[in-house]
Amino acid sequence: MIRKIQKITIALFCIFMLYLLFVCVNARVYEQSAILQTCQQQVYEGDRSLMENENIGQAGLPDWQKEDILQGSSLNLREDATENSDNKKVIYLTFDDGPSKNTPQILDILKKYDVKATFFVIGNNTEFGKEMYKRIVSEGHGIGNHTYSHKYEIIYSSKEAYIEDTEKLNKLILESTGVKPDIIRFPGGSNNHVCWKYGGRDFMEKLISEMQAKGYDYFDWDVSSTDASRAELGKQEIIDAVIKGVGRRQKAIVLMHDSAQKETTVEALPEIIKKLKDAGYSFKILKKGSYTSHFPQYMRNGHGS
Ligand SMILES: [Zn+2]
Repeated sequence: MIRKIQKITIALFCIFMLYLLFVCVNARVYEQSAILQTCQQQVYEGDRSLMENENIGQAGLPDWQKEDILQGSSLNLREDATENSDNKKVIYLTFDDGPSKNTPQILDILKKYDVKATFFVIGNNTEFGKEMYKRIVSEGHGIGNHTYSHKYEIIYSSKEAYIEDTEKLNKLILESTGVKPDIIRFPGGSNNHVCWKYGGRDFMEKLISEMQAKGYDYFDWDVSSTDASRAELGKQEIIDAVIKGVGRRQKAIVLMHDSAQKETTVEALPEIIKKLKDAGYSFKILKKGSYTSHFPQYMRNGHGS
């Protein structure tokens, strides 16, 4: 009888252990699939910061860069919301990488719809470039510094190199417009992993502190138009990405690109503005101390993906 009870106890114990094993394996599988989904979401919805660089095409990327894209780093999470206490619905349209041949058209559309936006410009020392800086400022838009060269291997090689590149552009903008930008957007965003190759994993942390100490406010984004995800995305895809991305947000910084090949971004712009106006949004420019969007710190050192 006792032996029978012992056998039953051992059998029950074994069944219990098997059950525990089953639960653990399931939990692990679920966790892995959740991680995979998050990564995929980052790739599809994120900015794909590398591709925003006109000089780097997706197809020709070396493996380490492709890996950086897969590692994502572009969950559009909001960390700060200094202006978020009021109930107003506000969109902050932002255009990166200009001036380009599309800048006059973008400015004309913004004027037509009486909408203000913020341009995170790069260096263009031509008469056209200076004229565009001037138009951006004189028509009431925000102007931010996106580095002169926008070349990762230069700007992310050292803090000093980044600062020198930024100040070179600020000088050109000041000469052209009389205004010296005090807002910046890091090429690839504040959580880009591209800089790891040049400046190390903790590079962005140090750079951000340095730029803030120098008096700059930096801006990431809440919503990507995804116009940098392919060489040229269809107009409707861009519209859908922005409208879906804004969703029910009260405030959102929207990333778009003002570079030569982004013609469908220009085509999409009127409809984006109309739809957002219909949804009750007003449009404002970014400036120091305004509503801001920072990617979370944990994603900058590799723990986020
Ligand atoms: Zn850029």
